[in-house]
Amino acid sequence: MTDIERQAALDEIGVEVAACTRCRLHQGRTRAVPGEGTAATEVVFVGEGPGVNEDRQGRPFVGQAGSLLDDLLASVLWSRDEVFITNVVKCRPPGNRDPEPDEIAACAPYLTRQLEALDPALVVTLGRFSMARFSPGARIGQVHGTFHAADIASGAARALTFCMYHPAAALHQGSLKQTLFTDMLGVPAALTEARAVRASAAPAPEPTTAAPAPEPASVPATDPVAETAPEASSPAGSSHDGPASDSVPLRAPETLVQPPSGEFETTTPADAEFDPASQLGLF
Ligand code: SF4
Repeated sequence: MTDIERQAALDEIGVEVAACTRCRLHQGRTRAVPGEGTAATEVVFVGEGPGVNEDRQGRPFVGQAGSLLDDLLASVLWSRDEVFITNVVKCRPPGNRDPEPDEIAACAPYLTRQLEALDPALVVTLGRFSMARFSPGARIGQVHGTFHAADIASGAARALTFCMYHPAAALHQGSLKQTLFTDMLGVPAALTEARAVRASAAPAPEPTTAAPAPEPASVPATDPVAETAPEASSPAGSSHDGPASDSVPLRAPETLVQPPSGEFETTTPADAEFDPASQLGLF
């Protein structure tokens, strides 16, 4: 799928979300919030649901929590223009209450389709409702700041998922702010691992039969510049345009470790000290 096709798929989902009446949340919304960002990204951030500011503007993470998310992205030299940001439910739960299970279930197909279109290498979950989709059974107090293979049923079949607290939680509990920034330093390392996992899962190139060498006299004249010029590469970097096939299952990362509880596999980025000099570009 090309980036243009990905964007077309996202636009189509956005139109459907704007008119959706699948659950009761449509009754109180001002604007639905399907999500925003670039279709050419490798990284998707998934929060819980729109708040009052998001409901007014129709954009995700635009209030105080959004400002904190911008700061978190900036701390690893990323910006929201380089990622895609969305939520588990696309309409605001009244009074900022938690989304109900039936509301999450009703809205789930939209997120699944967004993830299938984007085919991200890494999904960063913000808060426990998002985490529950990609890491069923996990407890955020135990797994925040770690990554592991995303649940295949989530729609991000070839992605790793990195768990974080929701930025809004830090607005109510100040001590979580430092935790968020510390955890964020591990996100670029998780993307590096996700890229390695996808590369290792890519099928080997088909063997080709070498054509017989032409007789010297029959070689046509060629433009040496055109012949040696490298092919243009996608500004998005790669994972979307690489040889990986959807039919190849994601290999379990060799770095996964088993915690004492035996309930949940996680990997903590080895280098939590973020070095801006080695900043991991998204493009
Ligand atoms: S929350 Fe999702 S399922 Fe419910 S009305 Fe909004 S878009 Fe539809």
